[in-house]
Amino acid sequence: MIKTPYYLIDKQKLLGNLEKIAYVREQSGAKALLALKCFATWSVFDLMQQYMDGTTSSSLYELKLGRQKFVGETHAYSVAWADDEIPEMLANSDKVIFNSIGQLERFAEVSADKVRGLRVNPQVSSSDYLLADPARPFSRLGEWDPEKIATVVDKVSGFMFHNNCENGSFELFDEMLGTIEERFGHLLEQVEWVSLGGGIHFTGDDYPLDQFCARLKAFSERFGVQVYLEPGEAAITLSSSLEVTVLDTLYNGKHLAVVDSSIEAHLLDLLIYRLNAKMEPCTGEYTYMVCGKSCLAGDIFGAFQFERPLAIGDRLSFIDAAGYTMVKKNWFNGLKMPSIVVKQLDGSVEVVREFGFDDYLSSLS
Ligand SMILES: *Cc1c(COP(=O)(O)O)cnc(C)c1O
Repeated sequence: MIKTPYYLIDKQKLLGNLEKIAYVREQSGAKALLALKCFATWSVFDLMQQYMDGTTSSSLYELKLGRQKFVGETHAYSVAWADDEIPEMLANSDKVIFNSIGQLERFAEVSADKVRGLRVNPQVSSSDYLLADPARPFSRLGEWDPEKIATVVDKVSGFMFHNNCENGSFELFDEMLGTIEERFGHLLEQVEWVSLGGGIHFTGDDYPLDQFCARLKAFSERFGVQVYLEPGEAAITLSSSLEVTVLDTLYNGKHLAVVDSSIEAHLLDLLIYRLNAKMEPCTGEYTYMVCGKSCLAGDIFGAFQFERPLAIGDRLSFIDAAGYTMVKKNWFNGLKMPSIVVKQLDGSVEVVREFGFDDYLSSLS
């Protein structure tokens, strides 16, 4: 038995998402780039790169990871480039997308031979969280004034919009794309490519894929642009789990179970957005609040149902643990970091990475 805690990536489940992405590429003509900020576990890129066109990044290190580990196109985006990052950024990218007119102009000369784009903020978003809303008041994410953008349109050949956020509604996607067409249509006509970013949950069950493809195709044809999608979560959703073991049980007015992991250290995004971890099945008459072993009082995965009382040594599995998890894991409390395990397509299970004390030691000095 593999020692917990570990993240388990199931390639068969990943494949379900990838096949939908491939279908969208075929039917719509759009290209799909993996957004590394969501998922950067490169040991499964061998499979992912067969179904996607490359990667997009939010920093120089993500950019270099994409270049080294994922075949295809490598897009460079950063909220702000530092001067000393520019030579490596140019050497490792196929396209660079600047976040502001200021950055575009600052690096216009050095990037003159590069395929360049600008991030545009359409000031509409699907986010339920201010923290994650690119269209929040005073947002620094992209230029929003069409008149200002028109003054630099000759310096770029494309635009990037990223305004969808966990958006599972095709109607809302369609409506916001309509806003983009209305406000920026005259500019879209002057460029060759448009990235519509990530946050579109088109790999979910019941998403109207054919309508989505038709909409992308119509957009592409209307403006004469190559469309890119930048799925993060949609590419890896429901493909992985976090496997843990019960270390202790307590009764303090509620039944509690403490496991050998921590929501703060290993599923941090859930804590930030105040969401519970997910478990399936979650049925039975026994309710436990499952807690982490860090000393943070609120290190709680959630309350779950079980068929029988939990015992020390029981294994539990939190599902849907691929996106914004492994990229955010940290050494809080010096807890053992979960290993990374891959279930290959032939069913064999392989531990691809273990972390130990030396990794903790080398993360600080
Ligand atoms: C976060 C982000 C993505 C990926 O978003 P998901 O919600 O994970 O699909 C894509 N593009 C840009 C510019 C982003 O900031």
